[in-house]
Amino acid sequence: MAPDAAFGSSGAPAPVVGPADGTAEATVEWIDNHCHVAGSSDLAGVVSAAAAAGVVAMVDVACSVEESEQHPALLAEVPNVWSTVGVHPHEAGPDEPRLGRLAELLDEHPDHVVAVGECGLDYFYEHSPRDAQQRVFAAQVQLANERDLPLVIHTRDAWEDTFSLLAAEGVPRRTVFHCFTGGPAEAERCLELGAVLSISGIVTYSSAGDLREAVALTPLERLMVETDSPYLKPSQVKDKGRNRPALVPYVGQKVASVKGLPVEQVAAATTARAREFFGLPGAPA
Ligand SMILES: [Zn+2]
Repeated sequence: MAPDAAFGSSGAPAPVVGPADGTAEATVEWIDNHCHVAGSSDLAGVVSAAAAAGVVAMVDVACSVEESEQHPALLAEVPNVWSTVGVHPHEAGPDEPRLGRLAELLDEHPDHVVAVGECGLDYFYEHSPRDAQQRVFAAQVQLANERDLPLVIHTRDAWEDTFSLLAAEGVPRRTVFHCFTGGPAEAERCLELGAVLSISGIVTYSSAGDLREAVALTPLERLMVETDSPYLKPSQVKDKGRNRPALVPYVGQKVASVKGLPVEQVAAATTARAREFFGLPGAPA
């Protein structure tokens, strides 16, 4: 398919434009605003492959109190990778008693931890009881509001309860629906809240027509891109490797083809949005 040809057929991630050696020619820069790389056995290799593919920053997202403890310590010295503290709805039951630790970790890593989450509601898997999910989500919305930090939301089969909980707690100034999988109606409701939609490799799947409609109607400046790696590998990539931040250009390239825009424009806009959203270096003041 023509839009994929720019990336070659080998599956190797290649920058769309420009060399990786920092010379003067225009380069395309991406930010993978949601990945899970801290536990990778080859973290240095993952990060350098991402840099070679034009990925200038990554946000590694914690899913439990334990990961929130470990990942900032593990990643603080890794170039271009930032951390979050948060409890995924899957962990809401077991982690609820230790939730207060998240605020302490924000104090311990003020320069490296850039957001609260991922948190939210998952009624599809329902690994934790719904009432525990709701309490743990509400506590993290409150924390993001208190600290004026970005909130990273995971929601699955739980749109109505997600919207009503946000209405009750107040929507943080910077809120992202990570791995957005809704259709046009859900996108419009998220946009009305002032939120940003983060698009993952799901946008490349043949079954994701509703999601592509949502992407088509969402203003470019309200979109970010992510891999959610090691999950959700873009369908254009046929190698045997797991998903990784180096593959985020494939997500952006699909967003560009859905919106009928140049890839360079999507890269520039989503990268600027992610920098500003998470307050990363290079963000406008
Ligand atoms: Zn995730």
